[in-house]
Amino acid sequence: MSTIFQKIIDREIPAKIVFEDDKCLAFHDVNPQAPTHVLLIPKQPVESIDALTDADAALLGHMWLVVRDLARQLGLAEDGYRVVVNCGADGGQTVDHLHFHLLGGRSLTWPPG
Ligand code: AMP
Repeated sequence: MSTIFQKIIDREIPAKIVFEDDKCLAFHDVNPQAPTHVLLIPKQPVESIDALTDADAALLGHMWLVVRDLARQLGLAEDGYRVVVNCGADGGQTVDHLHFHLLGGRSLTWPPG
């Protein structure tokens, strides 16, 4: 079954897209937990970290570099930011399509709940 993120990739539902290339897509989270809250997803359907294979190493390296560039473009790099990837039920994952949360624009607390 198509996830909500697959529908965003396929332009079946709208999103505030901030970056796109042939491998991944970034858009603003609909329920932001910080002044800036962007989600970065691979275009290929990977369910979660646990579903990754060795063949995804280059994709992941690319996504981390996109996170770095997005953080700079969104003005987060100087003060800092957080990247979160929830995995599975206990990790708090609610959409079964791998996604990096990029959060910033305020001082974030630790530990998470
Ligand atoms: P997670 O709980 O880690 O699976 O994160 C899923 C995230 O997707 C949550 O932060 C949601 O607010 C966000 N989300 C769900 N639907 C949409 C949507 N249509 N557009 C943008 N973000 C969404």
